[in-house]
Amino acid sequence: MDHCDVIVVGLGAMGSATTYQLAKRGARVVGIDRFSPPHVFGSSHGDTRVTRHAIGEGSAYVPLVLRSHELWREIEAETGAELLTVNGCLVMSESSSTHSHASDFLATTVASAKQYGIEHEMLDVAEVRRRFPQFQLTGGQPAYYEPGAGFLRPEKAIEAQLQLAQRYGATLRRNERVLSVKFSGSGVTVTTTQGQYGADQVVIAAGPWLSELLEPEFARLFTVYRQLLHWFDIDGPLEPMTPEHLPVFIWQLGSRTNGIFYGFPAINGPGGGLKVATEQYETHTEPDTAQREVAEFEVAEMYDTYIRGRLPALTSRAVKSTACLYTVTRDFEFVIDRHPERHNLIICSPCSGHGFKHSAAIGEVVAQMAIDGATAINVEPFSLRRFFELGTP
Ligand SMILES: Cc1cc2nc3c(=O)[nH]c(=O)nc-3n(C[C@H](O)[C@H](O)[C@H](O)COP(=O)(O)OP(=O)(O)OC[C@H]3O[C@@H](n4cnc5c(N)ncnc54)[C@H](O)[C@@H]3O)c2cc1C
Repeated sequence: MDHCDVIVVGLGAMGSATTYQLAKRGARVVGIDRFSPPHVFGSSHGDTRVTRHAIGEGSAYVPLVLRSHELWREIEAETGAELLTVNGCLVMSESSSTHSHASDFLATTVASAKQYGIEHEMLDVAEVRRRFPQFQLTGGQPAYYEPGAGFLRPEKAIEAQLQLAQRYGATLRRNERVLSVKFSGSGVTVTTTQGQYGADQVVIAAGPWLSELLEPEFARLFTVYRQLLHWFDIDGPLEPMTPEHLPVFIWQLGSRTNGIFYGFPAINGPGGGLKVATEQYETHTEPDTAQREVAEFEVAEMYDTYIRGRLPALTSRAVKSTACLYTVTRDFEFVIDRHPERHNLIICSPCSGHGFKHSAAIGEVVAQMAIDGATAINVEPFSLRRFFELGTP
C-alpha cells in the first residue's frame, strides 16, 4: 500500500485547488476522483461561474474571494489558461425582496463593498436602462454595479489546477471511486475500486457525494438540490450580449417563491445562446439518481417566469440546458473544517451555489490547515462545530 502525506478525495473545484496547493508546498499528495474531472456530474460544469468581491451571502466570504482573484491570475500566468474575465456585475432588485441565501442580498452586497472598500456604483433604474438597455428593469431599488467582478471558467480552472498539481509532483487517480475511509491512531486508509492507499491525513472534497463518505450524524448536515442551467437563443445582433457590452447579472424579483435569477454574457459565439439560471430549494435529490435531462416544461417555466419581459433579446428556445447539483447546509454556509473527533480528516464542502469563486483560496486554506495547522484567512464561520452548538444537527 502506498503511503503519502495527504489524500484528497474528489478533484472538482475544491479538490483540484487543494491538491495543487498541497503539491506546491511540497506535500506528497494523491488526488482521487470517481470520474475524470472536469466532468458534468457534480457541481462544477456549465461554462461560467459568477465572481464578485462584495459578497451578498455575507462579508465573511470576502477575504476568500479577494485571495482567489490573486490566485486565478497566478494560475493563468503559470498555465496560459484564460480563467477570469472581468466584465462587471450588476445586482438588480425589483423590490426589497428576500434572497434565498441572505435576508437581503443587495443590502449585504453594498455593506460588504463599503466594509472592504470595493469599488462600486449605485445606479438608479433609469441609469441601468441607459447603460444596459439589454435589461428591461422597470422598477425597484438602485442597482449595485461592481466593475471588478466578472466570471470564471470552471472547467478550465479545474483542468489548470490539476495540470499544475501534477507538475508539482501530485499523483492523480482518475475514474477510481473511493469506497471507504478508515482511521487508525496515526493515519488513514482509503479503499478505492482499484486498491488501498495510506496517508497521514485525508481531505474529503466530494461535493454532492460528500455524505456517502461521512458518518450519519455528519452526513445529514448536507442536502443536495438539482439546479438547471439554460442557454437561450439570441434574437438579433450578438455584440450587445458579449462580455465587452454585458456584465454578469443577478436579478432579484419581488416574489418570495421565485426569488432570483442570474446570467452571463454570451461567450459561445453565434448560435451559442446566453446562459441564465435560477435556484430551487423545494425538492432535494441524490447525486447518483438525480435527473440529468432537462424537460421541455422546465425550459418553458424558466423563460416564462424570469426571462420574458426582462431580456427582450432572448427567444424562448433554449440552445441547450443542463442539470447541476448544489450541496447545501441548513444555514447555507460552507463547511471547511477538521472533523471534531477524527483529527486527520478535513471536510471541505463549500457549495451552496456560490463556492466556485472562493475555490482557489479554499484550496490554499485547506493546504495550510493540513500542513501548518493554521490558516491565513479566518474560516471559523465555516466550522462544523456551529451545527452542534446550535443543537441537534
Ligand atoms: C448550477 C450551479 C451554479 C453555480 N453558480 C455559481 C456561481 O455563479 N458562482 C460561484 O461562485 N459558485 C457557483 N456555484 C457553486 C460552485 O460551482 C460549487 O460551489 C463548486 O463547484 C463545488 O465544488 P466541489 O469541489 O465541492 O464539488 P465538485 O466540483 O462536484 O467536485 C466533487 C468531486 O468529487 C468526486 N467524488 C465524489 N465522490 C467520490 C468518491 N467516492 N470517490 C472519488 N471521487 C469522488 C466527484 O467526481 C467530483 O469530481 C454553482 C453551482 C451550481 C451547481
